[in-house]
Formats: sequence, structure tokens, C-alpha cells
Amino acid sequence: MIDTHCHIDDPQYADGLDAFIAEQKAGGVEKILVPGVNEASIEPVREVCNRFRGYLYPAIGLHPEEVKEDYKEVLDRMEDELYSKAGADYIAIGEIGLDYHFDTTFKQQQQAALRRQISWAIDKDLPLMIHSRDATEDCLNILSKTSGIRGVMHCFSGSREIAERIVKMGLYLGIGGVITFKNCKLAEHLGSISLERIVLETDAPYMAPVPNRGKRNESRWMSYVVQKLADVYGCSEEEIDRQTTENAKRLFNI
Ligand SMILES: [Zn+2]
Repeated sequence: MIDTHCHIDDPQYADGLDAFIAEQKAGGVEKILVPGVNEASIEPVREVCNRFRGYLYPAIGLHPEEVKEDYKEVLDRMEDELYSKAGADYIAIGEIGLDYHFDTTFKQQQQAALRRQISWAIDKDLPLMIHSRDATEDCLNILSKTSGIRGVMHCFSGSREIAERIVKMGLYLGIGGVITFKNCKLAEHLGSISLERIVLETDAPYMAPVPNRGKRNESRWMSYVVQKLADVYGCSEEEIDRQTTENAKRLFNI
């Protein structure tokens, strides 16, 4: 299994990190991708990924909820980091996107920040880790304006129609703990989507799957997501593991 979205730089993982990583490996997790969310996360993401080089892989991005008045200057500095020598380590631009859930004050700025970060991805030929909440139409509209984008719609939980539109655009769906939640319709919606467009993720420390819902999430618990996907696709858990791992390697070039 490859965890394509895990905030392992979160201070909640700082204690006993060596043991934690060993447990993830023992639990069948081959690699973990670590998104950035703002300027302050650059250093911790980098540090933890350097410490576990070849197992953890860093991404860089300004999360939509982090976009404020000063976003242009923030992006200038993040761009310097991306285009520095050390910037060659980044395997993706993310997480980036639009989020109108709690606050739409900076809607226009969020859109401008997304466009600019997409241009980095095109220039650097990197995939995107996309966060979209209560902003589907605007998000898909912006993404569809650029040809040649690659990436994953992270923490996907939308309808069949939206899933199909995303896949048609050449993007992947990041599936995590949400699919195990009671009353979640996602499993029914995914059946028509090719398994070749699904990647696994946790969004840890959030979104722990049932039966660990509410706990600090762990990458190895993606096994519960794999079980659920095996039901949906009517195949073995080994096949889900093999195909999603292959998909993540193809998408992120790792
Ligand atoms: Zn995230």
C-alpha cells in the first residue's frame, strides 16, 4: 500500500516516530507522501522526509484555507523554495485547491493561488494533490482550463457524476477512511470508476477508518479501506493493494 496523503509532520507523530514508521512498514505500507499546507510546514515536511528518505516523500503547496491577503508574497517565497536546488526533492504540488466550507472571504485569492500553483506543476511536470470542499464547480472549472495536468483529487467523497468528470480529466481519486464510514454513499458511486484511477490515502492524523474512527490515523489502517474497495470491485484485497500501489507509483513517479 502507498499512502498518498499523510500529514506525518504533524506534532502528534513527533514522539516515537521511528517506532511508528517501523509499524507502518510492518503493516504493509510501502511509501508515504507528505503534503505541505503553508510556508511554515516547508521545514518540518522537509526534515521528516530527509530523515526517512526513500520512504517519506515531500510535496509543497499552499492549502486554500491558508490563503490570506498576503498570499502573493507567500507564494513568491514558496516558489523560491520549489525552484531551489533542494526543491528537486518535491514529488508533487499540494495540497492546493479551493475550500468555501467555513469561509469565502478570500474566494478570489484562493482561485488565483490555485492557478499560480497549477502553473508550477506544469512547468515542473509534477502532479497535483487537490483539496476541494464545497467548491467543486469552481475547482473543476479552473483545472479544466489547463491541459496536461496530472494529479489526485484528495479525500474524494463526491457523487458518481463528479467522480466520472474528474477521471475524464485524467485525474485520480484519493480514497481514504471516509469510504468505511456508516451512511457513506461513496462505495456505491465508485463501482463505475476504473480501479486504475484509484489511489489510497489517509489524510492522517484525520479521517481514521472504522473501526478506529476518531483516533489519530495511521497509514497501515488503509487495510480497512482496501477491504472495503475489495467488496466494491469484487476482487481480492491483494489485487486492490497491487493496483493502487502501481497507480500511485505511476502518478507520482516514485
Ligand atoms: Zn490534507
